[in-house]
Amino acid sequence: MPDESISSWFTRTAAANGLRPGELYRIVQPGGDRNPRDLDRHADDCLLDLLAGKTGVPVDDLKHATFRRWAGRLFEHDDGLNKLVWLPPAGREGGRRCFGQQVCPWCLRADAQPYLRLNWRLSFSTTCPIHGRLLLDRCPSCAEPFSILRQDGRGAICCPGCGADLRDFTGDEPAFDTISVQRDLLGLIREGWRDLGDYGPVYSFVVLEILAQLLRLLAGGKHAHALRLWLAEQAPSLAVRPESLPRARDGALLTPRARGVLVAMAHWLLAEWPHRFVEAAKAAGMTSTDLRKRSVGEYPFAYAHAVDWHLKEPHKGDATEEIMVAAQMLHDHGQSASRQNLVALCGTKLGSMGGVADPVASGLPWGKGRYWKLDGVSPEVKAAARLAAHRAGEDVGPWLDALLRRMLGLCAIKTPFDRHDPDTITLDANVGCEG
Ligand SMILES: [Zn+2]
Ligand SMILES: [Zn+2]
Repeated sequence: MPDESISSWFTRTAAANGLRPGELYRIVQPGGDRNPRDLDRHADDCLLDLLAGKTGVPVDDLKHATFRRWAGRLFEHDDGLNKLVWLPPAGREGGRRCFGQQVCPWCLRADAQPYLRLNWRLSFSTTCPIHGRLLLDRCPSCAEPFSILRQDGRGAICCPGCGADLRDFTGDEPAFDTISVQRDLLGLIREGWRDLGDYGPVYSFVVLEILAQLLRLLAGGKHAHALRLWLAEQAPSLAVRPESLPRARDGALLTPRARGVLVAMAHWLLAEWPHRFVEAAKAAGMTSTDLRKRSVGEYPFAYAHAVDWHLKEPHKGDATEEIMVAAQMLHDHGQSASRQNLVALCGTKLGSMGGVADPVASGLPWGKGRYWKLDGVSPEVKAAARLAAHRAGEDVGPWLDALLRRMLGLCAIKTPFDRHDPDTITLDANVGCEG
């Protein structure tokens, strides 16, 4: 059958002999596990040679029905242990439910003999290109993941949980058309390389690893929401209602509908590499610390380099301006622009607050505070003022305030420093009701 996966072929072969897949597996692999592991990934040379010998199917055709079809293109090579980025496990592994087997119920209905396509294993594929409907990655009745090797149905493809015939289900409409993205990614795998913007020709598996990294950023983590919002503004055709996009640490656990949207977003970010991505990361307030948690060598060069080159410095700008305004507001209300007051006023901790905030009055050694920042006051005068304040037993700020008030004929109202310890001021009591 065209594009049939080896586990599907194996199951049909077993059924033709009146056997369950597990029974056939123990016949060809005596002493083998009762539940064979995912054959699409783990069928080894030994098993393939044996099956080819017994059935007369050329061994290369069998290999082509496994993940090896994509070696060097979708992934560099498979050691059988590490996760493959776009080929999540199927069925149950170690008790965990894995949604790596997708199906199009419409295709199954159209088949004379229903079978699974290997392309349905690719997690960037979420819509059937023939029927335009979302693939199913779990049983709509009982939510069990599909695993063709675990089923009893002879001839039909059934849910291993409740036994429902998958042909009885219908796939939903996708959030928007993702088929062009899928087609582009399949073309990328076929060609084996792509020109990646500033980085020139790059192997397809590297491009796909970067795409997977972008998907992770969009799928979960504290910046996912900001990234999605920015993207929806830039590319309105990719905008969907936020509540229809749950967060997940692992993009492979998302439903096909949500995954399709996020893959299309990641694909959009990948274009003009790395400029769209850099712009998005800056807009979402991400820096290299957020984007590269492991060492450089564990990321594709075109990703790690783009992050370190463009996003190394903490993104300032708007935030600094906002903090300056907040600091001015506090001063205008006779408050200290201490870090604590700034945090309370801005409602959040911002990285650049440290540079703007006044030092805590009691926390710094005498004379080292940065409060007095008038340009044009000579160091000589500053030093003399500090000394005079010290002799008067005061900090330089209050001392200077009192002195200037006398000079300028202002009444000697209490300075902010006399009222309270600035760090115990609560904004509700002091700022919110004024102005
Ligand atoms: Zn279909
Ligand atoms: Zn079911």
